[in-house]
Amino acid sequence: MSRVYNFSAGPAVLPEEVLQEAADEMLDYRGTGMSVMEMSHRSKAYDTIIKEAEADLRELMNIPDNYKVLFLQGGASQQFAMIPMNLMKNKVADYIVTGQWAKKAYQEACIYGKANKIASSEDKTFSYIPDCSDLPISDDADYVYICENNTIYGTKFKTLPNTKGKPLVADVSSCFLSEPVDVTKYGVIYGGVQKNIGPAGVVIVIIREDLITEDVLPGTPTMLRYKIHADNGSLYNTPPAYGIYICGKVFKWLKKRGGLEAMKEYNEKKAKILYDYLDESKLFHGTVRKEDRSLMNVPFVTGDEELDAKFVKEATAAGFVNLKGHRTVGGMRASIYNAMPIEGVEKLVEFMKAFEAANMPV
Ligand SMILES: *Cc1c(COP(=O)(O)O)cnc(C)c1O
Repeated sequence: MSRVYNFSAGPAVLPEEVLQEAADEMLDYRGTGMSVMEMSHRSKAYDTIIKEAEADLRELMNIPDNYKVLFLQGGASQQFAMIPMNLMKNKVADYIVTGQWAKKAYQEACIYGKANKIASSEDKTFSYIPDCSDLPISDDADYVYICENNTIYGTKFKTLPNTKGKPLVADVSSCFLSEPVDVTKYGVIYGGVQKNIGPAGVVIVIIREDLITEDVLPGTPTMLRYKIHADNGSLYNTPPAYGIYICGKVFKWLKKRGGLEAMKEYNEKKAKILYDYLDESKLFHGTVRKEDRSLMNVPFVTGDEELDAKFVKEATAAGFVNLKGHRTVGGMRASIYNAMPIEGVEKLVEFMKAFEAANMPV
């Protein structure tokens, strides 16, 4: 068996221990004589799996009792519609556009009501987070929306926006469980799990109970109502059962590693190795404003497209894969999620140093 260092932005690296455990349980899950994939979602064994997953997530994130945890399908992108359909009572919402994902969410919301773009960093190709301390929040806004970590551009909100009392809705797909969060500051926290938690097919929504109502936009399909899923404990219909089982294992892995405080420390240490090198390198440099740098997604360039391509090719051959930047940005991007070991980043930097020495223009 030979595993590569996988720097993919998503679907992304998962803890080897989790994959091994899932492999060991593949044919016979704890004496049931079947795989979790083959199991009824109404069975006793599965009930334990989903309940434990929720309890562990609640413990990790210290989620208060007045928030529901929902395991849904449709990816983060489906939430772009589900959020306005369920939350736009006044048909008004304010969006802070700091990247492609926030922009897509904003465009989707425009279908359902009056979405206001109250701040944006598009003027500098989303390379920074705008000052959000005193934005023109609409008096009748139903919520204020952000994408907390911008997967493509590699920026992260270090301070949450001042929403002036409006509920904050945050897409945390690419920073989910990477550090502690104060859940009480949000109305909705959601993310697709395929970046930092589990396999594609599950989206987790953590939503304050008072935001879950019958009062949704006319025509909202049953499957897109938070209330249906909340009332049924995420078992209204067949959930993405196997994916939730893997997420549950990752939650246990995170608890064993000391929880989110410990992950934050580890992630900071890991990211620093790469950022310190980017700051001193004469060949490679980072592309975003330093104070807004993400701990999870690190874009960088040489400034020469041919050299970028050469680097990606040689890195791949050396076992550092999926380093090509997003198609809209170019260059490189190293996604260094929870499950990327520190050795992976150390070895990548060694490789970059060697590449720099061999390729510096004279
Ligand atoms: C990947 C990503 C998405 C899209 O996720 P899907 O599950 O593919 O819909 C949305 N937001 C962010 C921040 C992402 O990183």
